[in-house]
Amino acid sequence: MDCLFCKIVEGKIPASKIYEDDQVIAFNDINPQAPVHFLVIPKRHIACISDLTTDDRALVGHMIFIAQQVAAEQGCDNGFRTVFNCNQDGGQTVYHIHLHVLGKRQMTWPPG
Ligand code: IMP
Repeated sequence: MDCLFCKIVEGKIPASKIYEDDQVIAFNDINPQAPVHFLVIPKRHIACISDLTTDDRALVGHMIFIAQQVAAEQGCDNGFRTVFNCNQDGGQTVYHIHLHVLGKRQMTWPPG
């Protein structure tokens, strides 16, 4: 399987890693859209949020927990935004689920 984020998990492609445990890693986005912009991804390949099964509930909960923990470590004291882009209409470009975490600027709504 030719998956960019699996290659980052395997260390075959370098990434600016800021967190790792047995289930997930977090690394800085290569094209940041805010002063803080990192991605939390599962080590296990799941292509899209629409592929999640009931077995993945704890994993996704863990991703959100790690998002808030690393956001705090990155100084997002005033808040932050979390985004899962899902499939074509959601604007997903990398098909290995990832939670965007953006902070240290004022976000607006609606998103583009
Ligand atoms: P998506 O559009 O929600 O799928 O987001 C994919 C994100 O991955 C984008 O914000 C990209 O900038 C980011 N990205 C793509 N390649 C890399 C990489 O090699 N390292 C870190 N981030 C990446």
